Formats: sequence, C-alpha cells, structure tokens
Amino acid sequence: MKILCVLYDDPTNGMPKNYPLSNIPTINQYPDGMTLPSPKSIDFNPGELLGCVSGELGLRKFLEDLGHTLVVTSDKDSDGCAADKELIDADIVISQPFWPYYLTRKRIESAPNLKMAITAGIGSDHVDLQAAMDHKVDVVEVTYCNSRSVAEHIVMMIISMVRDYHNQHAIAKSGGWNIADAVQRSYDVEGMHIGTVAAGRIGLDALRKMKPFDTHLHYFDRHRLPDSIEKELNLTFHESLESMVKVCDVVTINCPLHPETEHLFNDELISKMKKGAYIVNTARGKICDKDAIARAIESGQLSGYAGDVWFPQPAPNDHVWRDMPNNGMTPHTSGTSLSAQARYAAGVREILECFFDKTNIREQYLIVKDGELAGMGAHSYSKGTATGGSEEATKYSK
Ligand code: NDP
Repeated sequence: MKILCVLYDDPTNGMPKNYPLSNIPTINQYPDGMTLPSPKSIDFNPGELLGCVSGELGLRKFLEDLGHTLVVTSDKDSDGCAADKELIDADIVISQPFWPYYLTRKRIESAPNLKMAITAGIGSDHVDLQAAMDHKVDVVEVTYCNSRSVAEHIVMMIISMVRDYHNQHAIAKSGGWNIADAVQRSYDVEGMHIGTVAAGRIGLDALRKMKPFDTHLHYFDRHRLPDSIEKELNLTFHESLESMVKVCDVVTINCPLHPETEHLFNDELISKMKKGAYIVNTARGKICDKDAIARAIESGQLSGYAGDVWFPQPAPNDHVWRDMPNNGMTPHTSGTSLSAQARYAAGVREILECFFDKTNIREQYLIVKDGELAGMGAHSYSKGTATGGSEEATKYSK
C-alpha cells in the first residue's frame, strides 16, 4: 500500500543534534482512565522531533518492513504540489492539524484508492467530512493525545495576556525599565470569571488547571457535565453561549470546528461579551470571524486575543491577527510539543497496526466509518464540511 504523510518543514537549521531534556516523563493513563496509545512497538525516541518531514512520525521502518511505500512531504498547497501528485494513487493519507493537508472534495475525488485519512493529532476539520462519508473514506484521529498539552497552553495564554507578559518581556529585552509602561494593562486573574465554550477533554482540563488561581469557573456545552464535577470545580453551567459570554472576563474556546461552530464568534456574539474581555482560542481559527475579532480589539470591546489556531494554515503573511494590538498568537503549536508528538506518533502507529491486522481501531479514534459519522465523530461533529476557503493557504510564502 502507499501511505502519504504530509508533515511540517524541518527546523530552518536542520534536525537538532541534541534536545534540552534527555527524556520525557512517563504518563500511564489519561485522567478519565483511557489508556495512552499502545502500539506493539515504536521505532523512535520519545522526546525527539517527529512531526516534521525528517521525523516521519517514526513510521518508515515499520511501513517498509511490511512492504508498504511511505511518501513524506510538506509541499501541500500550491497547484501541482507534491502532495496532490502523490495523493492520486495513495491508500492512506496522514496529516497534522498544525500543517493541515486540506482534503477537499476535489482532492478526495482525485484519489480512487483512498481508504483512510489519519489525523496525527485531534481535529479532523481539514477533511471534507461530507465528501469522506460520500466516498467511504474512513477518518480517524488520536483522541486525547494532545488535549492536556493544549490545556497547558491555554493556561499560559490566559495568564500571560491578563498580566500583559509579552509587553513586559519586550521592555526588558530591549533594555528598558519603564514600570508604568509595563503595568498599565496588567491585572491578576484571581477573582476573574473564566468560561469555556465546550467542556470536553481540553475545556474541562483547562478549567481544572485554572481552579487553583481562585477564579470563578463557567461552561457552555451541548451536554451537561456530571453533578460531581460541577460541585468539585464549583462550576456554573450556562444554557446558552450568550448567557456565559455576558459574565466572563476570559472566554476560552474548546469545541471542534464543524458547520455548527464556524464563525460562532462574529460581531453579534462579541458585542454581547463583557466589555474588555479576553479570548483564548486554541480550538480552530475559523470558529472566530477574523475581522470581527480585529475590530473588537481595535474598539476595546476585547482587551486581548490569543491562540494558536488560524484559518487557513499556514496563515497568509498579512493575516490580520499577526500584528493586531494586544494579541498573544503563536503558530499552531500547542498540541505538538515534543511530549505530544511522542503520543500521537504512537497513536498513528497503533491505528496503522490495527488497519493492517484488520482488527478494530478504538471507537474513541473514529470520526467517519463506513460512510457515517462514528465514534467520537458522531458525538462531537455535525455533517457537512468546514474546508471552504482553505485554498487561501497558498498565500503564505516562507
Ligand atoms: P473533545 O471531543 O473531548 O471535546 C469537544 C467538546 O466540544 C465536546 O464536549 C462537545 O460536546 C463540544 N461541542 C461540540 N460542538 C459543540 C457546540 N456546537 N457547542 C458547544 N460545545 C460543542 O475534544 P478535545 O477537547 O480533545 O478537543 C477539542 C477541539 O480542540 C478539537 O476538536 C480541535 O479542534 C481542538 N484541538 C486543538 C489542538 C491544538 O493544537 N491547538 C490540539 C487538539 C485539539 P458534546 O460531546 O457534549 O456534544
């Protein structure tokens, strides 16, 4: 079989010769008891770069020993790109949300042998799920592999934005010492109202991690959390998003992108937020209307916007979020720390082992199966596609 793997570029100066840490902590299970990826074996050292082209998700030996062909490229967007050329006779495509190969209907229809699209990470909105259903292409992702990595990033972003860390660091770095400049936008998070849109694996973990800061915690989700969790975290549940955003100083967005959530944060919803609130969005860029965010930052309706997700990716060089005031954006990194890479590389290997052995892929990993939303997909996504506009990724130049 032919496996096409679309990964981000290697570091500018080549693969690292060594890493800051010689090993990463061992984690035995996720908080809800779900086990970590458990392939029969791995051919990589956890803690090394695996998500870039030369890292190959540690898959080459495994696949070639079984007689399969592995093609790895980062060239994914332009007309006639390497990924499009290789896709036409590929059986399996692997892509990462950080550097998504947008599997549009046109691309899916160009690949008659395609059987499965694997997301090395979480969030399969870069695949036209409707087209995948129509063409019986299964879609799977490595549920939970980087949820807690993202929750850590959210905490970092909430605190750094509310305290205005980026500004203070820039002053120190440039040789300055004007304390008034450094603190004129700096607050404590203690006592603030923090709300999450969706309390799934990331949303709930972010709330748990913010609890020790003595904040008031809120959530909005389609399904209510168990009573015991609401009590443990002293959570306020909101029946509507409007009700939650009205009272929150910080809103963190943690739902998947699907037709129901596309441009959820538009001018109208933002105008109902508490004046001067902050948004942290590590879910998907397209959940927010980018220009509405920029307008709200400009007017002061929002005090800050941070996150690591953009649309499309890579973001065009002139994307308005790159240089709007009071932004704390990073490229899409929260779910691809070296720690997370080890988990999702192992998860992809587990999925491939199941596929080749014709055994069941974990129910939790399924998004589309046999032409229908299945497993996690049936729980968290709605039918349709959210890939429209992805061709704008060609506007990015290195
Ligand atoms: P989960 O599936 O555990 O949680 C998703 C939650 O979103 C579920 O509780 C689901 O609710 C809820 N939800 C779905 N649609 C809506 C809606 N319309 N309104 C309110 N809530 C909704 O996934 P994770 O927490 O692990 O990940 C969430 C998302 O975060 C991913 O889909 C991905 O887009 C993004 N992500 C980003 C990463 C990054 O690197 N920045 C890495 C990993 C994920 P219910 O199930 O109750 O219907």
